[in-house]
Amino acid sequence: MIKTRAYAAHSATSPLESYTFERRDPGAQDVLIEIKYSGICHSDIHTARGEWGPTAYPCVPGHEIVGVVRAVGKKVKKFKVGDFAGVGCMVDSCGKCQNCKGHEEQYCQKQAAFTYNSLELDGKTPTQGGYSQFITVKENFALKIRKGQPLERIAPLLCAGITTYSPLKRYGIKKGHKVGVIGLGGLGHMAVKIAKAMGAEVTIFSTSPGKAQDAKKLGAKHFVLTKDPANFEALEGKFDFILDTVSAKHDFTPYLGSLKIDGTMVLVGAAPEPSEVSAFALIFGRKKLTGSLIGGIRETQEMLDFCAKKKVCSEIELIPASKINEAYERTIRGDVKYRFVIDAATF
Ligand code: NAP
Ligand code: ZN
Ligand code: ZN
Repeated sequence: MIKTRAYAAHSATSPLESYTFERRDPGAQDVLIEIKYSGICHSDIHTARGEWGPTAYPCVPGHEIVGVVRAVGKKVKKFKVGDFAGVGCMVDSCGKCQNCKGHEEQYCQKQAAFTYNSLELDGKTPTQGGYSQFITVKENFALKIRKGQPLERIAPLLCAGITTYSPLKRYGIKKGHKVGVIGLGGLGHMAVKIAKAMGAEVTIFSTSPGKAQDAKKLGAKHFVLTKDPANFEALEGKFDFILDTVSAKHDFTPYLGSLKIDGTMVLVGAAPEPSEVSAFALIFGRKKLTGSLIGGIRETQEMLDFCAKKKVCSEIELIPASKINEAYERTIRGDVKYRFVIDAATF
């Protein structure tokens, strides 16, 4: 077993604290990764604070993981010691159901093993995430990361990158499309960069006036301050596609109104509380409202390769582990530019 220093939540209401636990020794198909950087996703906060339902404590969050392979099992083919590797939101799945066979392990019909607050496929071993020094994972669930890239700025791609890339790709976003992105946080800023790299004209919908300049720097053509309903008037029927990355309950109606006929709005933001949707907002203009969960492993590798080719990576603030709780508070306030990443050397 490998002793691993980490940060864990011990209850929904207490701050995360230093915590030590053990990772398994790598089996034949496993790689052991020494974690270098771990991003802070808002899902970590929802889970650490029990906002999505019961969390199993102690919980080590973190599913935007990059590091260096330190050991490989004897059947491992994809990695050798010294390679860079990433781990995202899943560490295993059944591999046999229709969705796994279709490379959509996130929708495994037996339930994928998610990276934390989940169980391994044995049904009893709790998974623990990336706010830690090491992780042991099946090679099939580890991603290849090319050398020569800033590792700390790649970490957020493992969740924020794939979660935004997957629906943009699925709906065929390309040059000529007008794309709206709601919320300029971790997911939102990756959505702007990726949609722009796909050729789209991007508009940011934000509650934060202070982010207007950054939105343009990140590649958005327009910035809409959503607090004033008058700002939606000129946008009626304008967008082909809208990606909603907001982490709290909000009204979908004005955004649905700004979609073209047959336009699609995809929810990736996972507010704990439900929202109401008026049937009329969908009926008039045959609008589609749908959702999307991360992306499969094959698609995650495709996204990493796409981002490497297009030189897309995250805008980050690198923090030591001692600042995790402060980073949580700042993320909740929308004060994040645009992803906190933990330096794993500080655990
Ligand atoms: P984040 O960095 O906190 O960004 C969320 C942004 O939403 C904020 O920066 C803010 O942007 C906006 N926002 C926050 N509260 C709002 C409110 N009450 N009304 C309107 N806008 C508000 O969070 P994130 O890490 O990007 O994650 C976003 C959401 O996606 C979370 O719910 C997370 O759990 C979920 N998620 C889902 C998946 C998936 O697979 N579907 C994967 C990862 C994360 P402005 O300041 O610009 O308004
Ligand atoms: Zn995430
Ligand atoms: Zn499956």
